[in-house]
Amino acid sequence: MPINTDYYVVPVGISTENSNNPKQASDVCSNNLVRNPETDELVGKSRKKLSFKEMLTSSLKKSIQKHEIEKLGEKYADLITRLPEVQKTFQTVFMRDDLTEHDTLNILQEYHKTELIKIKGTPEEYASALFNLAVKNYGLEHAGIKLEFEPPNNSKAAGGWTANMGTVTCKSNKSADEYFTIIHHELRHAKQTQAVVENSSDEEYKDYFKRLCYRCAKNDGHVKNINSYEEFEQRILTPDFLKIVMKPSKKLARKNPQITEETKEFAMRMLEAEKNYTDCDTDMAAYWNADNEKDARFAEIEMVKLFGINKSRINYYNDMDKKYLIN
Ligand SMILES: [Zn+2]
Repeated sequence: MPINTDYYVVPVGISTENSNNPKQASDVCSNNLVRNPETDELVGKSRKKLSFKEMLTSSLKKSIQKHEIEKLGEKYADLITRLPEVQKTFQTVFMRDDLTEHDTLNILQEYHKTELIKIKGTPEEYASALFNLAVKNYGLEHAGIKLEFEPPNNSKAAGGWTANMGTVTCKSNKSADEYFTIIHHELRHAKQTQAVVENSSDEEYKDYFKRLCYRCAKNDGHVKNINSYEEFEQRILTPDFLKIVMKPSKKLARKNPQITEETKEFAMRMLEAEKNYTDCDTDMAAYWNADNEKDARFAEIEMVKLFGINKSRINYYNDMDKKYLIN
């Protein structure tokens, strides 16, 4: 969970059009003549004639896409026949008891659209569309959460939720299927933060947040000359500083959240987990057993099982559980 990293941002708005196409469709005539936009004249065959190999590749690609689109249609037809089960999964993963069957159908339709983008677009275009959808599904659309792609580095973490910046980060060298799991996992962490913001007192939240800042700063090597949490609290965590860094996560709070014994219990569990959190690069066993990580993995795997995307994750997590999970 870095505080300051050199991120580069890929625009969240997506387009399924090929942005490399130098001509708009209306400017290209059927016989490969191109209309000069200034003189309105037809100016001859400026488009390169495709070689036989290029033609073959292009038609092969189209036929594979067609097949994938058909298979996708079958998958969603099957999901619709299992609507009550799908609804239950959405309610659990997104922590949204309010989702009706009608909402479930709409959400399924939206996932279908993102999977069409996966077939035709780049992994990052898919990730951006999926992110926008998942943010809405999790009930986080009012909080202004951003998606950022981070250049690959040595960290074992493929993604991250940075509460003090309100961002989800993904490594930029991932496949579309990997983005599916990373995004659902990291946004579940954002949902956990939302629960903490909504269910804790101001003092509890401030304490939680101070510890989060300390951990981030320690991980990023910003606290080399500070020997203890108490010293960090005194020297760095001034009221002004806290006000600024708490702002993005405070925005997660909804206007009228439902506060129940269950939501309080969940929030306190997440708050405790955050206090003792250790990242996967420092101590994999501690990371694997952290309550907030177990919870985010649960949400991610529920979505994998439902949509059949990135299924290798299931075996990988089973193996990791055998190796690290204490109970
Ligand atoms: Zn996590």
